[in-house]
Amino acid sequence: MPNAPHISIQGLDVRYRTRDGWVTALEGLDLEVPPRSFVSVVGPSGCGKTTLLKIVSGILRPSRGLVFLDATPIENLRLEGQVGFVFQRPLLLPWRSALANVVLASEIVQKTVPRAERLAEARRWLEITGLTGFEERLPHELSGGMQQRVALSRALVFHPRILLMDEPFAALDEITREAMQGELLNIWSHIENTILFVTHSISEAVLLSERVVVLSARPGRVQEILDIPFPRPRTEALRGEREFTELVQHIRGKLRAAPAKAR
Ligand code: ADP
Ligand code: MG
Repeated sequence: MPNAPHISIQGLDVRYRTRDGWVTALEGLDLEVPPRSFVSVVGPSGCGKTTLLKIVSGILRPSRGLVFLDATPIENLRLEGQVGFVFQRPLLLPWRSALANVVLASEIVQKTVPRAERLAEARRWLEITGLTGFEERLPHELSGGMQQRVALSRALVFHPRILLMDEPFAALDEITREAMQGELLNIWSHIENTILFVTHSISEAVLLSERVVVLSARPGRVQEILDIPFPRPRTEALRGEREFTELVQHIRGKLRAAPAKAR
């Protein structure tokens, strides 16, 4: 079981240098992500959601502000093996089987773990994500949903303390997407790490999360943070409840008030 950290972001600014000058992606962002919580981030395109995940993963440094994991500044940590990342596209190596794609992640991160153990763990994750029987398939022999299950297995195989997900289901058809949401909830109830989840789907954010962060248009600032009160385990039936649709409507209203700027 990973030791899930508390993520604390204080006064975060991120600026990018471009040919046309500086672009401020995030400004004055404060955010607390409690350990073992599921926090979603929604906001207009280009408001800095991916940037926020890159900051938490340590890929990118803040222009200003502080980021802590528990009480330690992120720049003092070795994050390798602590953070799993799932992107919108699965980004699998096309010449490697599903199993070999998952094993590769643990080869890189868990160099000291014996190969047999890494293989067993990779198989276990493929089983948890519903891919038993497909271990030896190449990515192009798998559906989009199955490829994303491989990507999820690859992100979880080394037991990351934080899982970052950047619109992971956006490329899937609606039925597959809903199935994946249910499975993610199920998987998360077993791993209980800290999940920071970016999505364009408001109902997805409300269904999955304990907390939804609504960002403004660029530069992204926190517009509102909503606690989502529904007990777990959560099921599809929740979508039909009035409190659920009211929360979705409320967030939609906030986003309408902050339309995306042309990029
Ligand atoms: P989102 O994920 O919310 O769509 P991003 O975090 O990808 O937004 O980007 C936020 C803003 O920063 C956008 O305006 C984008 O064009 C700009 N941006 C992102 N990455 C870079 C980069 N490497 N260089 C310059 N500008 C960037
Ligand atoms: Mg993005």
